[in-house]
Amino acid sequence: MIQLLPDHIANQIAAGEVVQRPASALKELLENAIDAGATNITIVLADAGRTLLQVVDNGCGMNSTDARMAFERHATSKIRRLDDLNAITTFGFRGEALASIAAVSEVTIKTRRQEDEIGTQVIISASEVTAQEPAACTAGTSIAVRNLFFNVPARRKFLKSDSVELKNLVSEMQRVALCHPEVAITMQHNGANLYNLPAANLRQRIVATMGKEINQHLITVQVDTSVVRIKGFIGKPECVKRTASEQFFFVNNRFFRSAYFQKAIYNAYQHLLPEKACPVFFIYFELSPDKIDVNIHPAKIEVKFEEEHIIFQMLHAAVREALGKFAIVPSIDFNTEGAPDIPPMRKDAPATLPFPRIDPAFNPFDDDKRTKPASAGNSSGTPLKGWEKLYEGLSRSRQFETFPEEKTPEQLSMERFTTERAICQLKGKYILTPVKSGCMIIDRHRAQQRILYERFLQNLTHPQQETQQEIFPQTVTLPPADYVLLESVLDDLTQIGYDIRPFGNNTVVVNGQPASFPAMDATQLIEELLYTLHENAADLKTQRHEKLALSLAKAAAGTSDEPLNMFEAQALVDNLFACKEPALSPEGKPTLQIITIEEIDKRFLK
Ligand code: ADP
Ligand code: MG
Repeated sequence: MIQLLPDHIANQIAAGEVVQRPASALKELLENAIDAGATNITIVLADAGRTLLQVVDNGCGMNSTDARMAFERHATSKIRRLDDLNAITTFGFRGEALASIAAVSEVTIKTRRQEDEIGTQVIISASEVTAQEPAACTAGTSIAVRNLFFNVPARRKFLKSDSVELKNLVSEMQRVALCHPEVAITMQHNGANLYNLPAANLRQRIVATMGKEINQHLITVQVDTSVVRIKGFIGKPECVKRTASEQFFFVNNRFFRSAYFQKAIYNAYQHLLPEKACPVFFIYFELSPDKIDVNIHPAKIEVKFEEEHIIFQMLHAAVREALGKFAIVPSIDFNTEGAPDIPPMRKDAPATLPFPRIDPAFNPFDDDKRTKPASAGNSSGTPLKGWEKLYEGLSRSRQFETFPEEKTPEQLSMERFTTERAICQLKGKYILTPVKSGCMIIDRHRAQQRILYERFLQNLTHPQQETQQEIFPQTVTLPPADYVLLESVLDDLTQIGYDIRPFGNNTVVVNGQPASFPAMDATQLIEELLYTLHENAADLKTQRHEKLALSLAKAAAGTSDEPLNMFEAQALVDNLFACKEPALSPEGKPTLQIITIEEIDKRFLK
C-alpha cells in the first residue's frame, strides 16, 4: 500500500514551506546569488512579484549539467559531509529552494561561468523541464520566476494586496542589503527604479537603504569580547518610529529576529522613549557558528544562542553606553510619575523669598466671583461631566468690564490671564489652569491632537477647503512601498486642502497645505502620516476618514516641547473645550486630569 510520492508532488509539498509568498522566493534567490560570490545583483519585479520575480547576479555561474541539477530536490553544492552542516554559516533550506520554487512557477534560468564560452538556458514549469539549450549570456546567473503559484490557486488567493507584498519584498531585500554593503543592489518594480544601492561601507549602506534622514540620528555601538563581537548602530531617542520596521538583528551576516535581544535594547532606552515608540537599530553579532543553533524552523528566522544571557547583558550595556556617550538624559514621564517635577534643592543654593502674586481684581465681597471647592467626585481618573460648568465661578465676561477702553486686545487678553484664569505651562508638555473643582492639567499634545482630529474629520466629510500655496514647494522622496501607500490617500488629502502631487521616481511635491491648519514641515507631515497609515493599512478601507484624520492630527500636533506663548496656550484650552469630546485624545487616552482641592488639601495635612 505504501508508495513513494512522485517528485513533483514532493516538491510541491516542500514548496509550501519554502515559498509562502514572493518575498520568500526572493530571499532564497538573493542568498544563492550572495553564496555565488556576486558583487552586483539586480532584482526585477512585476506586479509585486506575482507575474515576474527575477534576480540577476554576476556570481560564479554554473555549467550546463549543474544548471539542470540545481533544480533537483536535495541538490546542493554547499554540503558534502555532515560536518559541513554544522560549520555552515548560512541558514535556511538546504538544497530545496530552487526545486521548491520551480514546483510552483515557471522558471527560466540563464547561466554562464566566466571560463565558459557559451552559457545554458533551462526552462522549467511546475517541476517539468520544458527546454534546455545553449545560450549566449553574460557571466553569472539570471533566474526569472514567472506566474508564481499559477498551479496552486489556494496559495495565490492567500497573497495580500500588491502594496503589502511589495513591502515584504523590499524588507527582504533590505535584510540582505544591510549585511552585504559591499554588494551593489538594484531593485526595479513595474519598470521603475525603486532602489539603487552602490557598494559602500556599512553606514552609507544603512543611509542608502533607509533614507538619508537617518544619517544624523545614528549612534555607533561596538563591543568586543571573547564570547561575541557586537557592532552596529542605534538611533537617537528622537528618531523613534511607530513600528518595529527599522529594527534589525544580524548574526554572522544573516538577518534574524529576537524578542529577547529586542528587550535588552528597549531596557537600555528606558525612560528615553515615549510610550509605545520603537527605537531604530541595526545590530550585528559575530560569533563562532558552533555557539548558535540555526536549525530551528528555517523560515522562522530564529536563532538559539548558547550563551544568550551573557549576550543579553553585553548588548544592554553596549547600547546604554552608546546612549550615555551622547548625554541623553532621562526625562520625566507623565504616566508613570505622580509627583510634580520639583527640582531638588541644592545645599549651596541661595535661598530666595517667595514673591506673592497679587490679583488686583480680586474682591472678597463680590460673592459670585468667589470660587468654592467643588464636591468630591472629580478625582483624577474618573470621567468628567458637564464641561460647561467647569469654569463656573471664574466668570469670563468680567474682563470687558474691569479694564478701561484704551488697552489693546493683547493687553486685555494678557490681563485676563493673570487676573482671571491663570495658565501655566510645565516643560512645554502640560498646561495647568484652575477650574472650579481644583487644578486641571492638560496634556498639550493630546489636546492638540483632539482639536485637529475633529477639524480634519469635519473637513473630510464636508470638503470645501482652501489651499494655502507654498512659496517654496517641498519635494519628499519616499521608500517605494511607502510611496504606493501615500498614493492611495492622495485624493482624500486633496479634499481637505492639501496639494500634494506625484513627481515621478517615488517623489511627491507638496505645493500647498490647508489654509485653516497650521502649516507643517512637509517631510515630517508625510512621514508621520505614513507611519499611522502603515499600522492601519489592513483596515484602512473601513474607517478611512477616521484613520486619515487621526494620522493627520498626530502629524500636525507634533511632539515639540517648545512652550507655547500665552495666547496659544489660551487658544488651546478654549479650542479643546469647543470639541465634541474634549476629555479624550483621538486614540481614546485622557487629554486632561483634575487634581481636586480635596486631594491638594490632603497633601498639606501631613
Ligand atoms: P542551496 O542553496 O541550499 O545549495 P538551492 O536549491 O538554493 O540550494 O540551490 C541549489 C544549488 O544551485 C546551489 O547549491 C548552487 O550550487 C546552485 N546555485 C543556485 N543559485 C545559484 C546562483 N545564483 N549562482 C550559482 N550557483 C547557483
Ligand atoms: Mg539556496
